[in-house]
Parts: sequence; C-alpha cells; structure tokens
Amino acid sequence: MKPAPFAYHRPSSLSEAIALLLRYDGEAKVLAGGQSLMPVVNMRLARPAALIDLEGVPDLNGIRVDGDRVVFGAMTRHVSVERAPEVRTHLPILARAMSYVGHLAIRSRGTIGGSLAHADPAAELPALAALLDGQFTLSGPNGERALGWSDFFLSYLTTALEPAEILTSISFAIPPPRTRWSFREVARRHGDYALVGIGALTRLAPDDTLEDARIALFGVGPTPVRLHDAERALRGQRPDAAAFAGIAAEAGRSLDPDSDVHASAGYRRDVARTLIARVLAETTEHAA
Ligand SMILES: Cc1cc2nc3c(=O)[nH]c(=O)nc-3n(C[C@H](O)[C@H](O)[C@H](O)COP(=O)(O)OP(=O)(O)OC[C@H]3O[C@@H](n4cnc5c(N)ncnc54)[C@H](O)[C@@H]3O)c2cc1C
Repeated sequence: MKPAPFAYHRPSSLSEAIALLLRYDGEAKVLAGGQSLMPVVNMRLARPAALIDLEGVPDLNGIRVDGDRVVFGAMTRHVSVERAPEVRTHLPILARAMSYVGHLAIRSRGTIGGSLAHADPAAELPALAALLDGQFTLSGPNGERALGWSDFFLSYLTTALEPAEILTSISFAIPPPRTRWSFREVARRHGDYALVGIGALTRLAPDDTLEDARIALFGVGPTPVRLHDAERALRGQRPDAAAFAGIAAEAGRSLDPDSDVHASAGYRRDVARTLIARVLAETTEHAA
C-alpha cells in the first residue's frame, strides 16, 4: 500500500513541533513509533497533510523515579519500559503487561506516549494508566497542562489532546509496600490486541483481610474501566474464592462491552467475570 502524499518535518525542539502543528491547523499528525499511525496512513484510512516526527525533539525519552511515582518521557520505547530496572523494581505489573504488546519488533519502535495518545480500548497501557493513577503532561501553544487518566481518555481512539498539543510525559504511582499484583489477558494469538484484559492490585492487612484492591479492565468499553464498586466491596473482606466469584459476577453485570468481528459482548462479559475472579485469587493466594 502507498500513502497519499504528505510533508515530513523533523523538528529539533518542542516549541518548533507545536508551531508546526499550529501551522497545519489540525491537518498534521505527530509521528512517534509509527506502529499504529503508518498502517492507517499506508492504507489511506488517514491522509494527514504532514507528519511531525518527534524523534529529534530532546528530553522526550527516558525513565526516572520521582518520589512515589515513575515518570516516562512520551517517546520512551515499549521495550525500554519493559526492561527498565525502575519498572521491574517499582511497577512489575507494567513490565509484565508490556510483554503482551504486539511483538518485539513492534515494541522496539512503539512508544509509551504513542500507545496512550492512540487510546485503543483493547490496548494494555491505557488500562495500566487507570490502575496506577496515570498522570499525563500535555504541551501546547498555551503552555503545559496536567490531566489524570480519567480526563485524558474520552472514547474509542479519542483523548483530551487538542490538535496542536503533544503528550510529553506520563507518570504512574508506585503501589505501597506489600501490594501484590496480577495481570492477564485473553487474545486470539499472543501479540494480538486483547479481546479482554485485566490488571489487579491488592494489599492485605496484618489480619489477612483486604486493606485495598484496585482492578482495571480493557477491551470491555470505549475507554479503560476501573471497577470502583467492586474495589469498595472487597475492602475489609477475607480473600476467599466464593467472595471473589460473587464480586466478579456482580462486576460482570455492570460491564457493557461491544460485539465485533472478534467476539460477542456476551463472550467478553463472561471472560471478564472469569478473569476478575482469577486475578483476585492470584494476588491473594499466599494468604488463602
Ligand atoms: C501487528 C501489531 C500488533 C500490535 N499489537 C498491540 C497490542 O497487543 N497492544 C497494544 O497496546 N498495541 C499494539 N500495537 C500498537 C503498538 O503498541 C503501537 O506502538 C502503539 O499503538 C502506538 O505507538 P507509536 O509510538 O507507534 O505511535 P504512532 O503510531 O506513531 O502514533 C499513534 C497515534 O498517536 C499520536 N501520537 C503519538 N505520540 C504522540 C505524542 N507524544 N503526543 C501526541 N500524539 C501522539 C499519533 O499522531 C497517532 O495518532 C500493535 C501494532 C501492530 C502493528
């Protein structure tokens, strides 16, 4: 497939990149790893007048710990996120989730900012942002603004980014000590986008009741879904398979997934119910 003609720009600063976006007045696209953008451009599903390549913009790449958060430059490659010692130490669930993103060749080019800006509802990273209190920094003609994950993801492939804004960094909260985690997804083949996926964090009190629980699902709606009601219901409970099954059944009823060529809504709801009970059991099994 051949793309429609487009101009290519490789700005060397953030302000230059933003000025280019302004100049094209919504007709240009930011190019990060190109793993989602180039297929749609090559298939002429998108016909941007220009691509603004962020590769030459300094300070958009890197990972650092800042207090109780890990901060990622938007251009940090998936593979760097997956392998970073900061991630393996403080956010092991993120390292695990990254291993499900496409294949190594895709993870070697794709970026954390690109995945989050693309906002595919079946993608792992938006759900991890929901689970780990993701905070987004956006830069545009009027300066910088910060958004929490629930304000950033608006709908299918739609975020709060304005046409001349660039996502520059994302931070995830480091879970408190004693937090246990589990991540699972069901896909047709390894490397495919998930039909349904889930991440969960739990923390047990000294008396082995649940002090805290967080659950985020993907593939079950237009944006990642946090199960706040289930999380509240879990607090104070003893980890117990029957209790988890009850909470999973109730949570499943609250979901409203879509049917598509890959799976029916009913199938997705059934998978979600099963995964909720399974990951909760996995996070707490040492106490069972
Ligand atoms: C075969 C295949 C399988 C895949 N499987 C998975 C999978 O299982 N899970 C998954 O999550 N992903 C999957 N992907 C997608 C992959 O993770 C992409 O890397 C990711 O979706 C987009 O990141 P990118 O850096 O390539 O962004 P690009 O493709 O360059 O950009 C994607 C979109 O985000 C915008 N954008 C990018 N960066 C910024 C920024 N900093 N600020 C503002 N806008 C920005 C672009 O303008 C574009 O609209 C797959 C891709 C392929 C080709």
